[in-house]
Amino acid sequence: MEEAVTNGPRPTGTCWCGCGEEVGLRSFFLPGHDRKAEAALIRLEYGSVAQLLEEHGYGPSGKNLTKSLRDRELG
Ligand SMILES: [Zn+2]
Repeated sequence: MEEAVTNGPRPTGTCWCGCGEEVGLRSFFLPGHDRKAEAALIRLEYGSVAQLLEEHGYGPSGKNLTKSLRDRELG
């Protein structure tokens, strides 16, 4: 479960995926529902993960996602 941070969104006591279930006041999601929400958002807004990557400049003819993450974590 994702923990709340000082800045940004705050937990409300209801799962943020939209399932309507109650969660603890320190959590945004029931276990696994963060992934469900992520997948739903990608599907709704982009259609597929490939389209998501392409739209953000990643992919075989663009930026290398794995290298970009590694560089950020090392930097
Ligand atoms: Zn949920």
